[in-house]
Amino acid sequence: MNIDIEALKAQYPLFNQLISMDELFWTNPNQEKFYTAIEKSPLTYEDVKQAEERLVRFAPYIAKVFPETAKMNGIIESPLVKIPSMKQSLEQDYRQSIGGELLLKCDSHLPISGSIKARGGIYEVLKHAEELAIQHQLLTIQDDYSVLDSDRFRAFFSQYSIAVGSTGNLGLSIGIIGAKLGFNVTVHMSADAKQWKKDLLRRKNVNVVEYEADYSKAVEDGRKLAEQDPTCYFIDDENSRDLFLGYAVAATRLKKQLAELAIKVDENHPLFVYLPCGVGGGPGGIGFGLKLIFQDNVHCFFAEPTHSPCMLLGLMTGLHNQISVQDVGIDNITDADGLAVGRPSGFVGKTIEPFLSGIYTVNDEHLYKLLKKLVDTESIHMEPSALAGIIGPVKLGNDGAEYLSKHRLSDKLKNGTHIVWGTGGNMVPEEIKKQYYQKGLDLT
Ligand SMILES: *Cc1c(COP(=O)(O)O)cnc(C)c1O
Repeated sequence: MNIDIEALKAQYPLFNQLISMDELFWTNPNQEKFYTAIEKSPLTYEDVKQAEERLVRFAPYIAKVFPETAKMNGIIESPLVKIPSMKQSLEQDYRQSIGGELLLKCDSHLPISGSIKARGGIYEVLKHAEELAIQHQLLTIQDDYSVLDSDRFRAFFSQYSIAVGSTGNLGLSIGIIGAKLGFNVTVHMSADAKQWKKDLLRRKNVNVVEYEADYSKAVEDGRKLAEQDPTCYFIDDENSRDLFLGYAVAATRLKKQLAELAIKVDENHPLFVYLPCGVGGGPGGIGFGLKLIFQDNVHCFFAEPTHSPCMLLGLMTGLHNQISVQDVGIDNITDADGLAVGRPSGFVGKTIEPFLSGIYTVNDEHLYKLLKKLVDTESIHMEPSALAGIIGPVKLGNDGAEYLSKHRLSDKLKNGTHIVWGTGGNMVPEEIKKQYYQKGLDLT
């Protein structure tokens, strides 16, 4: 698309900073009160509830085939933990106090695939499997779904294939669950995808197609190939309602975890959530789910790499998926492979726009330093992408003063809670974890 860069510079004060790939903090001028935002929404609480119920139906199957989930009865969920030492270390480094408590949502430690994609990706495959099985009268929703762990069902699903385009983690999730059910799975991996992720999938008999281009191209080609095969179901990360809803289920679970920790969220106890964003489905779905529950008392911020600020570009300009970072001269090259996306999901951008508080960007060097700091202070290892959220409270304190005062939050910050979403990393091989840490050390 032909983009008039001069016009964008003139119209949007932060545009220069954006294309200079400097870190920035943007508040969303199109955010609305919850009650008006929800009226426009194509999705509702009912949709999220149905997704949650579907995951409950599958829980006996999940518990059986992934024994690591048995202690949670087949519910794929991650811990929510306080990280006071990290908080203290951030406060010292940035010479700034972070009002309120700092917690980490450890999606890095989600069972089965060790990233946030174990929510949306697995959900969409399960939904597809359920639909096929019900359509062919092999299953009813009253059944115990552990019957799916049988040669009969695997033979049935082996007549079908599933395809997906990915920077790595979505492919991992879909490949692992798809292969477990018996589907033929093809993952179209962008150039950013890490070798170990491809190797792991190949060991599970997943077809891995490698691209030298970025994520958007891997998705586009995957979509085209899938269209030619009527037995192939394409998981469309750029447009999927089901992925979005699978992510959104996180919110009802989080509500319970907050209650268990006796953490209040109400008008005087605001909740701030910081979510690393690639194409948008993960943070969009979770953010949407959280808004349904906590409404105007939750404030959701997305975090993107300075070299891949696709959602920010789409929302700032209102052009959504009609613009890519490459269109404005940004290279989309980042070590945060899970976030290396040049063009955002139009569906997610439009759906989340009235709910979202803002987006900030963070550079790779920062991600590595934060990675090291989290290991040093809390002994938690994550992958670089997953660290993008953790600087959020500092950014909000620094650059978010206007947002805080506009929403009358300046005095309430100290009673509030910050949750940073740690989106991946537990499956990273030890050797690579060491390299990541070393990189953080070299930069310090
Ligand atoms: C995919 C991913 C995200 C972001 O999710 P999107 O749906 O692409 O926006 C964040 N962190 C990690 C580690 C991921 O793999």
